[in-house]
Amino acid sequence: MKEYQSDLLIIGCGIVGLTTATLAAIRNPSLSMTLVDKNLIGFGASGYSAGFSTPLAKTDTENGKKLIIEGSSVMQELQDHIDLKLKKKQAYYIVGATSINNFQKYYIASDLEDSNDCALKTKCSIGNYLNIPTDKKIYFSRQSAHCADLPMLMNQMSLFLRRKAHMIFECSPIHHMDKEHITLESGVSLKSKKNLFTTGPWQYGEALQKTNQVKIKKVAALHLASIPAEDDPAIIFFDEKAFLLPLPEKGYWLMSFTSEDWDVAPKQQLTFSEKDLEIALGILRKYSNELGDLFSGGRVFCDHYSPSGEISISTLSKANLLVEGASGSGYRFSYAIASQICREFLT
Ligand SMILES: Cc1cc2nc3c(=O)[nH]c(=O)nc-3n(C[C@H](O)[C@H](O)[C@H](O)COP(=O)(O)OP(=O)(O)OC[C@H]3O[C@@H](n4cnc5c(N)ncnc54)[C@H](O)[C@@H]3O)c2cc1C
Repeated sequence: MKEYQSDLLIIGCGIVGLTTATLAAIRNPSLSMTLVDKNLIGFGASGYSAGFSTPLAKTDTENGKKLIIEGSSVMQELQDHIDLKLKKKQAYYIVGATSINNFQKYYIASDLEDSNDCALKTKCSIGNYLNIPTDKKIYFSRQSAHCADLPMLMNQMSLFLRRKAHMIFECSPIHHMDKEHITLESGVSLKSKKNLFTTGPWQYGEALQKTNQVKIKKVAALHLASIPAEDDPAIIFFDEKAFLLPLPEKGYWLMSFTSEDWDVAPKQQLTFSEKDLEIALGILRKYSNELGDLFSGGRVFCDHYSPSGEISISTLSKANLLVEGASGSGYRFSYAIASQICREFLT
């Protein structure tokens, strides 16, 4: 069976693996790459993602802030080479009086304006359903949030990579791995100078036990049956770590919230539990008597969470690198992570 040699082998073609490969191809055109996924591209967490990105840091650390700043410049760098179909979203942030300091610390952009209930109601097609408690402060952001259709984005990236003659093996589980080679179940043998493991919420065997006490948690979002207007803004409930995202092209509003179901596995069929619905509908009821009635199903998968909530890159050995801890924000941090890998691992 054929052997393929390359400078870099990427195992796992979710948004993190594909963004890294795309950026590496742009920054270093002579780098040869092979990508492998045991499923079709988009089968993992990335295929379920809401693809929403705000400039809110995950942690109040220098690294947390750096990831936001670097991510936004890398996104621009990619845009210069591929016409990424990202949609800018105006956004309202609803923040409790006692959280304002934290919010201002975590929001890493300079476009915040003070706003009010009346503006939100006027600008938003579901505004009349919303009653924002008077002790909440409302901020408006004109341009720092966007959303991406991740299946489409991953398709754009894989097309770009194939056009540059990089090999992508889909539905190709790994049969055997040693220091020299990775052999696929099809018998194809892959040899590379460096391996990057971006397997998302899947653990890759004993040899690559997650190093950062990563745990797998359910991630769920409701779909609300109200067709958004093209220019509807997103609404972020900062205290509840939840948001309402208008998806006019899909014909519904998506409500993201934090499920508390830990230690699930990507191989099992994941569904909403009663507890998930209780959490989500409880948040909606704080702001609206009607929105909960629009519940019309949703999407459920899982993601890999690190204790700090930050994505980390672990060097397993000189040739093996593992990305872990996407923590429900793997899309918006994928640009910065890709850049960090290109800078620190591929030079
Ligand atoms: C419902 C939902 C909504 C979300 N909304 C947002 C959002 O709005 N904004 C945001 O930033 N993030 C969001 N996220 C989180 C984000 O989608 C994830 O953090 C991100 O997609 C993780 O990407 P990944 O590349 O690490 O993993 P994945 O997309 O899971 O990719 C991993 C890939 O590795 C492959 N693989 C696994 N094991 C092997 C193996 N042994 N050999 C070969 N291939 C293997 C899998 O088949 C898979 O394709 C959401 C997630 C969910 C589930």
